[in-house]
Amino acid sequence: MVNRVALVTGGGRGIGRVIALGLAREGCHVAVGARTRGQVEETAALARDLGVRALAVDLDVTDGATLTPAVSEVIASLGPVDVLVNNAGIAESAPFNRTDPGLWDRHLRVNVTGPYLLTREVLPGMLERRWGRVINIASLAGLYGAPYVTAYTTSKHALVGFTRALAAEVSGKGVTVNAVCPGYVATDMVWNGARTIAARTGRSFEEAVEAMARINPGGRLVEPEEVAAAAVELVRNETINGETVVLDGSSPAPPRRHA
Ligand code: NAP
Repeated sequence: MVNRVALVTGGGRGIGRVIALGLAREGCHVAVGARTRGQVEETAALARDLGVRALAVDLDVTDGATLTPAVSEVIASLGPVDVLVNNAGIAESAPFNRTDPGLWDRHLRVNVTGPYLLTREVLPGMLERRWGRVINIASLAGLYGAPYVTAYTTSKHALVGFTRALAAEVSGKGVTVNAVCPGYVATDMVWNGARTIAARTGRSFEEAVEAMARINPGGRLVEPEEVAAAAVELVRNETINGETVVLDGSSPAPPRRHA
């Protein structure tokens, strides 16, 4: 993995930041893209502290016109992209009758069309060089249904479908395409969800977090480090392709390393 170049979307915070730093620890040079400049710069600085080259990129995965220049900037600065981690994502809950077309479209654009557009940018080069990894951060919601999240669940099922179809297409060409499917992970996404639940139900924030943790089959929140470890393993592995790696909190929790 040393000297591979990885582009991690949504790498400014949460799971994306920990994945970027996990790859940096293995010797990958990392480009970190998202919309909040300060956060991506902070992740890039932390990666540099680990001794690799790193670049903060302004990236909105829904803004198709900006993706080609953004990827060109990564190639010019770090080299061709060997590893794409489609991690940027949004999650808003709503009962179906309040799932308006705006909320629906946002989920499909960020969680599905974004990964499709970025993969289009980097896959031709990977196939040419006969080496590449595309890792899509999906969700348990990409495999199972749950109430009040039709838009999110639909988008993550689509991302899993995208993973499987593309994996079949690139099979045997040196490129693998896999998905990681975590249950609830200890990041802002869960803290924001817990705030919404607390506001809607009158439960406390802590009770809402606890209720979300209990939904995970293992009864605890997944740690971002577990998602990062799975992503690193998928980069290292030559043969796993079209797989959905489930992280549901069943194993003992790893130590927290992130801020
Ligand atoms: P998070 O803390 O909210 O981080 C989301 C990241 O995505 C941020 O860096 C955000 O940056 C970026 N992002 C959002 N919209 C974007 C856009 N249009 N263009 C570029 N970047 C964008 O959430 P997280 O928990 O780390 O989630 C990361 C991924 O894991 C998501 O795909 C999520 O669906 C998935 N996941 C999370 C959980 C969970 O419980 N936390 C469980 C399963 C799967 P900006 O806002 O600065 O752009």
